[in-house]
Amino acid sequence: MRSLLILVFFCTPGHFIHAQKLSSTEKKIMEAVDMQMPNTLKLLGELVNINSGTMNVAGVRISGELIRKELEKAGFTVRWLKMPDSIRTAGHLVATRKGKKGKKILVLAHLDTVFEPDMPANPFTKVNDSTVTGQGVLDDKGGVIAILASIHALAYADALKDATITVYLTGDEEIGGIPSDITRADIIEQAKQHDVALSFEAGQINKITTSRRGADMWRMFVYGTQAHSSGIFGEKAGYGSIYEAARIVDSFRVSLSKEPNLTFNPGIFAGGTTLIDSVDNVKIYGKDNIIASRTTVMGDLRFLGEQQRREARVKMKAIVENGNLPGTRAEIFFTDGIPSMAPTEANYKLQTEINQVNIDMGLGELVANKPMERGAGDISFIADYIPSLDGLGPNGSGSHAPGEVMNIKQFPVLIQRAAIFMYRLTR
Ligand SMILES: [Zn+2]
Repeated sequence: MRSLLILVFFCTPGHFIHAQKLSSTEKKIMEAVDMQMPNTLKLLGELVNINSGTMNVAGVRISGELIRKELEKAGFTVRWLKMPDSIRTAGHLVATRKGKKGKKILVLAHLDTVFEPDMPANPFTKVNDSTVTGQGVLDDKGGVIAILASIHALAYADALKDATITVYLTGDEEIGGIPSDITRADIIEQAKQHDVALSFEAGQINKITTSRRGADMWRMFVYGTQAHSSGIFGEKAGYGSIYEAARIVDSFRVSLSKEPNLTFNPGIFAGGTTLIDSVDNVKIYGKDNIIASRTTVMGDLRFLGEQQRREARVKMKAIVENGNLPGTRAEIFFTDGIPSMAPTEANYKLQTEINQVNIDMGLGELVANKPMERGAGDISFIADYIPSLDGLGPNGSGSHAPGEVMNIKQFPVLIQRAAIFMYRLTR
């Protein structure tokens, strides 16, 4: 067993803060966050040092059990929502407490990370006075711990008793919750029973996420006639599958690349005479003197809003099916990935409310993110049903990469802001 590295951090309580327009309860929430910070960071270290790669079901469950204890201490009723055996993920940890005042809040983060046990370990370590590193420290273990710390601070200030809060920690966010019609059915139902959704993915003091693009996958198959290369462009042999696939991919670029918030990246382009496809790779055989009869191209499609998603698919399909070069034909198939979080009026209203918290805390104004700045996330599955914000979690960089870091100087400030915002929503 690896011994747990316990680090002691010195955070000046109340730095950045002027706190003039805060109520006495809100000031108490701030104090509680500062006071509890050593314990908060100790918990973060424990959580980071439990491997919870999405496919490490046991690890995700152990992470969840650590959080369960903490939420039960705060009076939450906690359960595991298990997935069918065929899906082979840990399921989701769902914690609820019910009160009688204010808005019902659905709070989101995820327990899993992209780092599976067979990847090089990166134990929780202090890099310098303002930075820690570790697997998932930012994405999204810091977010999970920020939720816990907010709730503990609310409890300390006696601000929890009237609140209705559901904490929903998914165990398969990093694989997009596939198949989402099963794995996200419950959270959609929960969203319909709450008034506001707050997601604790990485954030910033002066920016909040009101929109995120969605992401689908596509796969294109192009067919030509196998023949001697010398016959290319001729009536009998035609143009071959590679020229046709190149024409199509370039037509995508020419006709769609200027659309705001839309991108599509051909990630794999493989052509030859023999192609063996599987879900995420392609084996190929061909020769320089043979016209390629088979080409497969695989890519993603990132969009904002259902209309853009639909229209982009229609345009791409038309390019694929019409105007094929002589002797070729082509087809394209789309797979639903994660929907987008559209920047709705309701989200902007929430933004003005959390902006007020920023101002009252002396942190300055915050702005909404641009949709292009954020990829798909769990909030996107429910954003059509409920006013939503994301980016309430910690600040840092390098998520999904070995050197992922989180800023521990800003961490208490972001937790204080989240806790006060939750307090105001539940009044
Ligand atoms: Zn994440």
